[in-house]
Amino acid sequence: MSLRRIGIMGGTFDPIHHGHLVAASEVQARFQLDEVTFVPTGQPYEKGRVSPAEDRYLMTVIATASNPRFHVSRADMDRDGPTYTVDTLRDMRAVYGQSAELYFITGADALARIMSWRDALTMLELAHFIGVTRPGFELTAANLPADSVTLVEVPAMAISSSDCRQRVAAGLPVWYLVPDGVVQYINKRGLYRDSGNVGPA
Ligand code: ATP
Ligand code: MG
Repeated sequence: MSLRRIGIMGGTFDPIHHGHLVAASEVQARFQLDEVTFVPTGQPYEKGRVSPAEDRYLMTVIATASNPRFHVSRADMDRDGPTYTVDTLRDMRAVYGQSAELYFITGADALARIMSWRDALTMLELAHFIGVTRPGFELTAANLPADSVTLVEVPAMAISSSDCRQRVAAGLPVWYLVPDGVVQYINKRGLYRDSGNVGPA
């Protein structure tokens, strides 16, 4: 039996948008991953105020529901305290077992900071890291151990969650930037209308 290949996409997903989904889909296909699990953060340690975890979780479920290979995990939301990726990876290792191969998918902006994350070396032992292109950020693995990181060009989507939040607060549409069901969920819950909570992370 061949090893199961599991992609892990951590993020705040406030809200999830098509940039996240295209990146996950492209890496899934190129690396022949059996599944990609999206893991919404609890309280992200490096961000200010974020929407309730339950709203971010439900938007992630709505956005991924139609893809049989996409799943969503509550692991980071259900753990107390700020979210560190090393804990996410330990939890995913426990869920998928010792024999699975974990691939942590991350954008160029996050990849640039990765060595400053808590327990960076342990993190790199727990998973292979896949850095994906993101418009406005240079994709480079300089200073990262070559055997633990692979860079991948994905179709460029110049979309960010902070831009989506600012658009909603300004009364501008987010149709086609996020999945239809996420637009409807944002409206139903009245998310991002208060411009105090929309700035860049
Ligand atoms: P914010 O603007 O609030 O920081 P974001 O758009 O960066 O939100 P996050 O939830 O912070 O979204 O991102 C989760 C992961 O997805 C990170 O690794 C990030 O680099 C990656 N990512 C986000 N947007 C894109 C995009 N448009 N293309 C490729 N990767 C992306
Ligand atoms: Mg971000």
